[in-house]
Amino acid sequence: MIYLDNGATSLHKPPSVKKAMLWAMENCANPGRGGYPTAMAAAETVYRCRETAAELFDCTPEQAVLTPGCTFGLNMAIRTLINPGDRVVITGFEHNAVTRPLHILGAKVRVAGRKLFCWDEMLENWEKQLNNGADAAVFTHVSNVFGYILPVEEMANMCRKRGVPFIIDAAQSAGVLPVSLRKLGADFIAMPGHKGLLGPQGTGILLCGRLPKSLTAGGTGSESENQSMPDFLPDIGEAGTPNVPGIAGLGAAMEFICGDGTNRIFRREHEAMACCAEGLRKMGVRVFAGEHQAATVSFLPAGDCEETARALAERGIALRAGLHCAPLAHESAGTLKTGTVRVSFGRDASFAQVERFLEELQGVS
Ligand code: PMP
Repeated sequence: MIYLDNGATSLHKPPSVKKAMLWAMENCANPGRGGYPTAMAAAETVYRCRETAAELFDCTPEQAVLTPGCTFGLNMAIRTLINPGDRVVITGFEHNAVTRPLHILGAKVRVAGRKLFCWDEMLENWEKQLNNGADAAVFTHVSNVFGYILPVEEMANMCRKRGVPFIIDAAQSAGVLPVSLRKLGADFIAMPGHKGLLGPQGTGILLCGRLPKSLTAGGTGSESENQSMPDFLPDIGEAGTPNVPGIAGLGAAMEFICGDGTNRIFRREHEAMACCAEGLRKMGVRVFAGEHQAATVSFLPAGDCEETARALAERGIALRAGLHCAPLAHESAGTLKTGTVRVSFGRDASFAQVERFLEELQGVS
């Protein structure tokens, strides 16, 4: 099978990830809750994961709160910064993991930037909406549908200059593009462990530029006599026994990325994406491609999107069609009614994968 659904999750992990998870299952007790060897091994495993996150994302180990996923981190960040009725600026490319919590919270959402791959349009509208008055901003680094890389440094600068607190959704960029909590000066940056970071599902990181509000309350192994949650990082965001095997896997995955380098991974994936976009264009289908694009490309096949994806699956090509949990992004691109077929490359991207995919697509068109 040719796996081209890395936007959903990275299926093929480095072997060290599985090894670290297995080791943790055999050797780790509860971290931070005992001084005996297996409890200490667990605590060291968790801390090492935090240290690697700090190296990769330019923050302190304590600022890396370990979460069950990006969605959890985004909810925690949104609940911390935003109150019902607050004016919140978002982009036209947000995932439901951003828009649903904002909707449920009753925030007054304003959308800035709808034109794919156009930084000028994004920055002009971003500035306009911030100047109209905003209590907070939330923006994605890379669109999960179109691979559009947003000008996050400039958008972050605009927020900081106006004193607008902001959250970045790094779900599609962590592990493939540089992400620095210090340079971006974000209040929060949320990411999953199981996509570009190459870790297991059920893991994630919330980088905290400020103290979050805890979504859950419970044991932390610290200040047990206190009935409020500890008011320090990372404990305030980590109630309950952590997912130690998952965290061990995530730590090993991030160590692999530190060694392989995000630049090298990005270049390989990007070359495959560009070659794929070109091939699709030559086939005469509508392709959404442009400048500032990561390893994901969407297109409109001759037939129905879901049926095309199903037919491709039968021919050994795994990819995703539909709205990709991001109706707002499809609304922005004018594909809300049809959805798109999305091809997203991973660290094993190759021209051979592209060739086989295009061949099979010819066969189903
Ligand atoms: N934001 C974006 C842009 C995403 O692509 C995803 C996952 N598809 C999420 C948030 C949520 O991540 P998770 O499902 O891992 O919590």
